[in-house]
Amino acid sequence: MSAWEANVRRVEPYVPGEQPKEKNIIKLNTNENPYPPSPRVLAKAVELEKLRLYPDDKATLLVDEIAGYHGLKNSQVFVGVGSDDVLAMAFMTFFNSSKNILFPDITYSFYDVWAELLGIPYERPELDETFNIKAEDYYKENGGVVIANPNAPTGIARPLSFIEDIVKHNQDVVVIVDEAYVDFGGESSLPLIDTYDNLLVVRTFSKSRSMAGLRIGYAMGSEKLIKYMSDVKFSYNSYTMNMPSIILGAESLKDDEYFKETVAKVVATREWFKQEIEGLGFKVLPSSTNFLFITHEKISAKEIFEKAREEKIFVRYFNKPRIDNYLRVTIGTDDEMKAFLELLKKIV
Ligand code: PMP
Repeated sequence: MSAWEANVRRVEPYVPGEQPKEKNIIKLNTNENPYPPSPRVLAKAVELEKLRLYPDDKATLLVDEIAGYHGLKNSQVFVGVGSDDVLAMAFMTFFNSSKNILFPDITYSFYDVWAELLGIPYERPELDETFNIKAEDYYKENGGVVIANPNAPTGIARPLSFIEDIVKHNQDVVVIVDEAYVDFGGESSLPLIDTYDNLLVVRTFSKSRSMAGLRIGYAMGSEKLIKYMSDVKFSYNSYTMNMPSIILGAESLKDDEYFKETVAKVVATREWFKQEIEGLGFKVLPSSTNFLFITHEKISAKEIFEKAREEKIFVRYFNKPRIDNYLRVTIGTDDEMKAFLELLKKIV
């Protein structure tokens, strides 16, 4: 080992789902939306000549549009490069104490990576045997709380009253609610941000808005929270939001009809597919997201994952304690789900 390596900030990085290069793949492994973005987005050309200029560092067009959509002041909105960037900024800004931050043992697996990277101590209370969060685990003293609602990879959503109870018990720290999947059936905590100035609600354009490739995420909260986050962000990188993301993101919000229509299609496909596979002996957790977390009584998840992969159908398998016999299946188009269903019938 070279001497300089002793000073390297070493981390075990987050591993995102595979992005296969082959063609003709049914891709149900990274919770992307199977439908394209709104036609308004596709029609909105970005003048390439303008790319020689820096983008608006404040991303005003996008921030104003998000604020208007949710009925907030623009000073209550923070935007970033996907919600990953927004969440990382929030961890960096708000989790700066020697006490443990809290998030469930089974949740989005980037949380512990950021905590490790930033040297934030953390504790992961176990979900109960039905994969539900136990509120009492979050009543103790801590350095901050992070809850994905709906949770991932379980897909389970908890009601607003449940989140409010956790926030009520944690008014001395910042509580982050990650609502990456909320549009597919969860109840948003947004109505609480006027009452609790320590509550940060994080959203993304990657799932329900079909724009994972552009990388747009945002956070909403009290003006104080947003100001603190912005101060950290502008001390790190002024120009995180690129020009096409600002313009096309703002455009997406102007087409609510298309947004609601595609979300409804995904939800309908999810419920149909769930019923079908329950008939094949799968246990399916209740999902309020664009994916299902499934397990079979007789065939191992790993075996199904490998067989599906051979047939060019990609789903997500996590080789982790408690969930290593589950598969996370993103909801694709009806045709894609029919193809997967046929394969599952054969395997079963
Ligand atoms: N939160 C959760 C719970 C997620 O599953 C994801 C998707 N990997 C993200 C945040 C990040 O999504 P993005 O950076 O594309 O907004």
